Amino acid sequence: MNHEEFQRTTGADPTHLNEALRRHLAHCAECVEYYADVLSLEARLRSALEISLPYRPLPPARDSPAVWWYGLAAAFALVTIADWFLSPDKWLRTVKAILVPIIGVSTSQ
Ligand SMILES: [Zn+2]
Repeated sequence: MNHEEFQRTTGADPTHLNEALRRHLAHCAECVEYYADVLSLEARLRSALEISLPYRPLPPARDSPAVWWYGLAAAFALVTIADWFLSPDKWLRTVKAILVPIIGVSTSQ
């Protein structure tokens, strides 16, 4: 076992040392210092996670007025587009209105 193996293994789970980790720790000052830092960090994290906060229920969610306006606009656009596609006359008139000024040819008789 070397320093890197010890530090990687104890960094992942500092609470469980197997026999090989204990043997390395018994003979390595560098890893003793590292292990003390890891245990200190672990203790601070554990205490930070145990902070209890007062329970305050959230207010019921309400739709904002903007959501209703977006929904209304989307519904209006959908109806307009559906009407445009379902009415061939409107579609042809719209295409003619767009293409005639561009290509300069009138398709009407
Ligand atoms: Zn070591």
